[in-house]
This record gives sequence, structure tokens and C-alpha cells, in this order.
Amino acid sequence: MADAITPRAKDYPRWYLDVVQKAGLADNSDVRGCMVIKPTGYALWEKMQRALDRLFKDTGHVNAYFPLFIPKRYLEKEAEHVEGFAKECAVVTHHRLVAKPDGKGLMPDPKAALGDDEILVIRPTSETIIWRTYKEWIQSYRDLPLLINQWANVVRWEMRTRLFLRTAEFLWQEGHTAHATAKEAEEETHRMVDVYRRFAEEWMAMPVLVGPKTDAQKFPGAVYTLCIEAMMQDGKALQAGTSHFLGQNFAKAFDVTFKDAANKEEHAWATSWGVSTRLIGGLIMTHSDDNGLVCPPRLAPTHVVIVPLGRNDAERGPSIAAAETLAAELRALPRDDFYGYEPIAVKIDTMFDKQPGFRYAEHELRGVPVRVEIGPKDIEKAACAVARRDVPGKEGKQFGVPLTGAAAHIDALLRDIQVKLFEKAKAFRDANTVTANTLDEFKALFPMEKDDEGGSGLKFVLAHYDGSREVEDLVQKEYKATVRCLPFGDAGEPGTCVFTGKPSPRRVVFARAY
Ligand code: AMP
Repeated sequence: MADAITPRAKDYPRWYLDVVQKAGLADNSDVRGCMVIKPTGYALWEKMQRALDRLFKDTGHVNAYFPLFIPKRYLEKEAEHVEGFAKECAVVTHHRLVAKPDGKGLMPDPKAALGDDEILVIRPTSETIIWRTYKEWIQSYRDLPLLINQWANVVRWEMRTRLFLRTAEFLWQEGHTAHATAKEAEEETHRMVDVYRRFAEEWMAMPVLVGPKTDAQKFPGAVYTLCIEAMMQDGKALQAGTSHFLGQNFAKAFDVTFKDAANKEEHAWATSWGVSTRLIGGLIMTHSDDNGLVCPPRLAPTHVVIVPLGRNDAERGPSIAAAETLAAELRALPRDDFYGYEPIAVKIDTMFDKQPGFRYAEHELRGVPVRVEIGPKDIEKAACAVARRDVPGKEGKQFGVPLTGAAAHIDALLRDIQVKLFEKAKAFRDANTVTANTLDEFKALFPMEKDDEGGSGLKFVLAHYDGSREVEDLVQKEYKATVRCLPFGDAGEPGTCVFTGKPSPRRVVFARAY
């Protein structure tokens, strides 16, 4: 059998690490906080990229690329922005290495030190260098809106890291748009958080809450931040994507003005929005189980694995032939939006030196949504067995599925798995979302023994809150919980703050978070 995975109930953080490593998604590296994304993990990222990129293009955006290095003096131009990011910056101060005086190894060449004006930071986010560039690109209202996205890596010197969820270097996309009016920029901010919601729900099968962050949690340099927040299986929240309304802050910092139709000079209005490889961590933690990765079919690197069976060559021959025919039928199905207009990805497993049980477990571990088994007995009946990954064990396995029509059957099954994964995740989140009306109720929901590395069973807690920074800080300190967002929609009635008794316009969502 494949190496066992630590059960979720025993040690949730260990379970997550086991799934990431044993499903072949990523591994730690020798560089602190930086991961190696392995081929299966990268294939998942590529699928996410392709789907997101299409959503961005469908909403009028184009891709461009800006430098990895940002002059320190650019970062200094927006006060709130620099304050937020300075403590996480990797800084380039030299441009050459020389031998150490004792001849043992290398050191930065003191003669190649960059002057204060030349010091570079590795981008933690690209607002500053992009708005410096927009100064050259924007003169007239005819240059607007400017709707640009960049696919890139960024570096934030994070102290506590976890594969995919929080790394020092991560891959992401960052949209940076410029508009002639505040209204247009705000519409864009909302449009893009909704694109993220759709991607999370329709592709990742991960339900999300959508709404603004509090002032304390907003992006440094933003007027406000909208976010999508998901619940992981331990009840913790994951900030899965953000869309920022930046007002005229960056246009003012970089003096980006345009002449409006009446020839009046105005500063441009800005948004920025991003999602990262963190989404892969979110996908894993939303759907996977004690057998390994469970991957929503729309993003699965391999949709179907066919396992031909047989004790000897005489038995294996017909099984392999039937597997190849079925694989060809699956690949020939019409391409549509469900699969991102790509053919169904099918693999045939030829690990005949291993026991069937080992082979099945291996595909379960790697999260292939559908497994087909074809053995000599199936061949006699011109049939196969079809197992769905989202329902473990016998319950998820159908025997005697006729080979004629099996491709269409599997296609329908993949679509059903996508729907069921979303429904299951949503039912889990709803069942673990509660209201707290008193401080005692609130306290009981965030016991300190369930600390960061601890167990599961945490909840999303809807509670009234007076909106003050003091209460937010206190809740963070005393309960390790934060206001995740002020979800759009079901705000409920006004009430009184659970912590201070002051009036509260609405309930907000508190949770412990990754
Ligand atoms: P921000 O620019 O801070 O709004 O972040 C943009 C996106 O990147 C958000 O969706 C975050 O969830 C994600 N993100 C922020 N920091 C990290 C990190 N250290 N590792 C992975 N993803 C991150």
C-alpha cells in the first residue's frame, strides 16, 4: 500500500502536508519559505491560470509584464503602501559577489554596492512600478480605461509559512486598472471580486463569502478591499482573493493625470486585484479526505484513469485494448466550457507489477476524479467498473457499466462530481456557521486550546461588532480570531456589539484564519 496519510481528525496540519507531498503537488525547498511546485501541482496551477485568464479576457483585460525589481524610491512614494510592505521586502543592495578575504566562499562586493537611490526591492506587489509606467501611458481620457493583468511571481518575507497557503515566494496574477471616474473604478473592483467568486464556486467548487474587509485588514494603500473568504475543513477561514479600490492614491503618488472631455486635468482612478497559488491550498483543504487529494473535475490535471487488469499477458491484452478504445472515445468527446475547451485528460495505468488495491489507492491519493477498472470478467460482459473519487469505498463504485456508452456515462459523472463537491462544501460551511449573541457564546466558540496548530471544529461566527479597531485588536489577541469580512447580502438586523454593547449596524463574520 502507498504510505498512509495522517487522518484529519488526528492532526489536521500534518494531514494537509501529507496530502500535498504524497499527492506529488509540492515540497519544501532549501530556501526558507519557498516551495518546489511539482508537475502535478503545476498542472493544477496551469488549469487555474487558463480558466482565470479566460475570465479576465472575457471582461476586457489584456496581459503585460513589468520588472521583478522595484526601485526602493518608488515604494517610498505612497506612505500607507510602504508602511504595509516594508517589513516583508527582500532588498537588493549589491550587484556582484567576490571572494572573501580568507578565500573561503563569496560575499557581496563592497565596490558593487548600490547607492541609496539605486537600491531595489523584489516586488511584493506591483502597484508602484506599474503606476510609474502608467504616467507615461495615460494622457487623455481616450487612454482610459486601462485594463491590464500580469502573471508573475512575488516575494513577501513571511515569517510563518505553509506550502501553497503562505509562502515567501508565490505565483499569482495581479490586475491593475486605471479609470476616468471613481464610479467606473468601483464597478471594476466589484466586477473582479465577482469574477473571483465565480472562479472559486464554478471551477474550484469552493463556496465563498464575498464582501469588504474592515479598515484594519484592507490592502495598504487601498480605500477599501473586497475579498472572497472560504471555510476550510477545520473551520478556519482562508482569504482566497482580493479586489482593491485604490481611489486616486497611486495616481497622486506618481502624478498620473489625464485631460477629461472638457480638457480639465484629473488624477486617474485605480483598482488592483489578485489571486495566488494559495488557491491550490484552498482547493486541497476544501475537498480532500483521509485517502488523499480530491480534485474538482474542472481543474483536475487527469480526469479519468483507466486501470486494465489481468494476471497474465493473455488476460491483460483484451483489457488494455478495451482501455485504449475507451480512452480514445473519451478524448474524442466534444470540447466545451466545462473542460475549458480542452479534451478530457485520460491516463491508462500499466502498473501490472502492483496489486490492484495498490493501484487504486495510488489514484485516490492523487485525486483523479474517476477511475475505470477493466478486467477479464468485465471483458466477458463487455462492461467495466466505474469509481467516483468523491464518494469513497463501495458506495462510489458502479459495476457492470456497459463499455458501449461508457464515455458518455463518465462525462456525465464528472459533471455530477463537480456539482456534488460544491454542494457538500457549501453544506459543511453552512452547518459550521453560527451566530453568537453574547460574549460568553463568542468565547465558547474560540477556545484557546484549539490554537493555531490544534484541532478542528472551529466555526464562522456571525456577531454584532461596533466597527472599532480596539475591539478588532482585542479579539485577535484574546481569541486569535479576526473579522473575515462584512458579507454582502444577509446582513440581518442592527443590534448591539457583543464586546462593548455599543450599537452595531450589522453582523460580521469572525473566524480563525490561515
Ligand atoms: P494582496 O495583494 O495582499 O491583496 O494579496 C493578493 C492575493 O495573494 C490574496 O488572494 C492573498 O490570498 C494572496 N496572498 C497573499 N500573501 C500570500 C502568501 N504569502 N502566499 C500565498 N498567497 C498569498
